[in-house]
Amino acid sequence: MRILKFGGSSVGTPEALERVVAIIKEKQKEDRLIVVVSAFKGVTNQLFELASLAEEYDSRYEDILTDIEKRHIDTINQVIPVNNRSDAITDFKIMLNELENVLKGVSLVQELSNKTRDFVVGFGERFSASILSACLQNRGIDSLYTDTRQLIKTDTSFGAAKVITSTTYMNIKEFIKRNDENVIVATGFISSSEKNESTTLGRGGSDYTASLFGAATGAKMIEIWTDVDGLMTADPRKVERAFSVDYASYEEAMEMSHFGAKVIYPPTIQPVLKLGIPILIKNTFKPEHPGTLIQQKRETVNGNIRGISSIDNIALITIKGSGMIGVSGVAARIFSALAKESINIILITQSSSEHTISMAVMPNQAHAAKTSIELEFSEEIKHDIIDEIRIEKEMSAIAVVGENMRQIPGIAGQVFYALGRNGINVVAIAQGSSERNISFVVDRKNEKKAVNTIHDAFFLSGEKSINLYLVGTGLIGGMLLELLENQKEELRTKYQLDIQLKGLATSRKMLIGESSVSLSDWERELDENGREMSLSKFVEEMKAANLSNSIFIDCTASPDIQTVYEDILKQSISIVSPNKQANSSSMEFYNLLQKTADKHNCAFKFETNVGAGLPIIETIHELVRTGDKVDRIEGVLSGTLSYIFNNFDGLSSFSDVVKTAKEKGYTEPDPREDLNGNDVGRKLLILARVAGNNVEMEDIDIQNLVPEDAREVESVDEFFNKLKKHDDHYNRLQKEASSDNKKLCYIARFENGKGVVKLEKIDDSHPFYNLSGSDNIVAFYTTYYDESPLIVKGPGAGAKVTAAGVISDILRVANTKASNNAGD
Ligand code: ADP
Ligand code: ASP
Ligand code: MG
Repeated sequence: MRILKFGGSSVGTPEALERVVAIIKEKQKEDRLIVVVSAFKGVTNQLFELASLAEEYDSRYEDILTDIEKRHIDTINQVIPVNNRSDAITDFKIMLNELENVLKGVSLVQELSNKTRDFVVGFGERFSASILSACLQNRGIDSLYTDTRQLIKTDTSFGAAKVITSTTYMNIKEFIKRNDENVIVATGFISSSEKNESTTLGRGGSDYTASLFGAATGAKMIEIWTDVDGLMTADPRKVERAFSVDYASYEEAMEMSHFGAKVIYPPTIQPVLKLGIPILIKNTFKPEHPGTLIQQKRETVNGNIRGISSIDNIALITIKGSGMIGVSGVAARIFSALAKESINIILITQSSSEHTISMAVMPNQAHAAKTSIELEFSEEIKHDIIDEIRIEKEMSAIAVVGENMRQIPGIAGQVFYALGRNGINVVAIAQGSSERNISFVVDRKNEKKAVNTIHDAFFLSGEKSINLYLVGTGLIGGMLLELLENQKEELRTKYQLDIQLKGLATSRKMLIGESSVSLSDWERELDENGREMSLSKFVEEMKAANLSNSIFIDCTASPDIQTVYEDILKQSISIVSPNKQANSSSMEFYNLLQKTADKHNCAFKFETNVGAGLPIIETIHELVRTGDKVDRIEGVLSGTLSYIFNNFDGLSSFSDVVKTAKEKGYTEPDPREDLNGNDVGRKLLILARVAGNNVEMEDIDIQNLVPEDAREVESVDEFFNKLKKHDDHYNRLQKEASSDNKKLCYIARFENGKGVVKLEKIDDSHPFYNLSGSDNIVAFYTTYYDESPLIVKGPGAGAKVTAAGVISDILRVANTKASNNAGD
């Protein structure tokens, strides 16, 4: 004997039903079958709804009924040829008539007892099983429709009745003996009391029906056919990258289902556990997939944890009182008080001080739970032994489940470390006494993030989604997107990073939401679907999405974006920024950002603030980390000024060299923004701060290379006219330098708490003497590098190298997270 159970989605459409027929056809060749079937997908919900509408005398229930009728008749018409369908239609109509009459009665008296509700909602299974059986008979398969109310006997807790197994098993055994059809098609979910009142086994109960049949007949195997590939590492609706496991122990499956893995109804395991009947979960729509085998514990299985489950909405009840310390039996009294009210405790935890006990219950039972605890402990409350009983709603309970966890130390540590790194606050923790489960409570808004975080940490061995939110699509932002598109595959294979652009904004438009923005087609998507840009909305939505491994990237030059940095870091969202504005404003703000990033376990990365993609800031981090002390920093920190002075050799005038630089695109549109030295000053300020100095912009003395009379003039052309008048001055400086075998060099230097940026003459003993092109160079004079400095040199400007530097920062964040913020 083999039991096959088909869930609602497996019989949701005529096409799905055909698949079911094909599967049964194959299987019945080898075994006698009991096929348990659920209602067509969605029908049970509709039945619940129409029962409530009828109770309120709301005639809309008739529309739903018509809809149900049409759907079933259409299915019969599609799966059974016209000449043979009359019996099936008659059977269906008789049942429908019965349902109609009951509903009429309900609406007339406007009263719906739990008993009547159970009767009404059980029709879905009766409809589907009778249609499936008729269809099988039509295909020449010897099949018998069976209403399980005659076999499965329960008490009268309507809604989720308790099975009287002895009678039930006996009934099933006799029934199987009495009938010799090769395929029994049985209704899932429904049962009856000893007085033959209709009862149900609880939502999702058809799985349980299958296991009762399995246990009663001592079946070889119970196959649960559904719409996913098996028991998965997490709920696929919450974790995109969840995958099915090939094996789970009964206990693991039980823990997973208790904590919300809907694929199997929790009581299902119990009847077959002792008998050792295996349960195989299979996908009706992909029968070739091996699915998941649930059976007795195997000694050798891979991995420490099997899966993560979560209950989306629970209430946490906390009992607090100093008097509880050392008093034994408190937990036991809570259990029995709640059991009396049939309140299910999902999780219970006692703080180490024994000061508080918290327990999770379903929200609709929270109030009753509180009342019954108050009653049980009324004496203690009167004598202030218990000070407070508190209910917190809008919480989620999450369980990490795995048979092997008990042998491996540190799993809990890994779980909570991963959560902490993503800024998820854990409200209560409980480790099941079986050590097969670590469960904890978080705010409901963090549920999805928490489950994904743990899933990534345990199952994707390094592979993780990185969710980017980019503001600014100019030269650097645009190039960043292009490089990311080109390198996407390599990032996936080489670094196991799955880059997702979750939000994109320009100064005018923004695109942010559930789905990712295309890295290749972002311009069109932004243009067609973008909303008006609002920085605060962008940040709010990014926070609300609450995805793990989120990174905010500021590729603008705007001074406004830094206003949201602190708020972002407080959400444990890392920031990568080529924008220098934040780090070159006050020291206080610089420190605030560093501290916020540290406190919230995220990173603030800005390597590209100085020298584009050159690893300058990282080098300082490395020096400081290894205990070195930076005494002096010297650098040529502007690609433009590097180009200008490397090419100013006396053959052409100074103004001509500046003009050529402008024509080649090396300068800002107005070259005065380069020549005034402010940008170099800001870079020096940032380097000094990263090296551990407390400095403000006022501490940097900058020589402005724009002659005074050229500073105020309006146009760039006029500026060049004025500059020409100063050519003699610059040419003289150049000649003096070269006659001494020296070169002119615009150097930024920080030493003894002071910064100076000025034009200097250097000889060939200076490390910058041979600088060429538009290269940047930085020399660090430190305790370790005292004689000859540590030098970083290379192209320090340009969209491509800067965008590449931003990617390096993204990779650092992805791999190291908080390990090296600038402040440490
Ligand atoms: P059926 O109609 O076949 O009884 P259910 O809807 O009751 O199907 O259960 C299957 C669904 O359970 C899947 O579609 C999936 O979305 C959900 N689910 C939740 N957690 C898990 C999990 N850990 N593994 C597999 N499925 C899960
Ligand atoms: N049809 C019932 C429900 O929707 C039982 C089941 O699907 O297992 O709850
Ligand atoms: Mg189900």
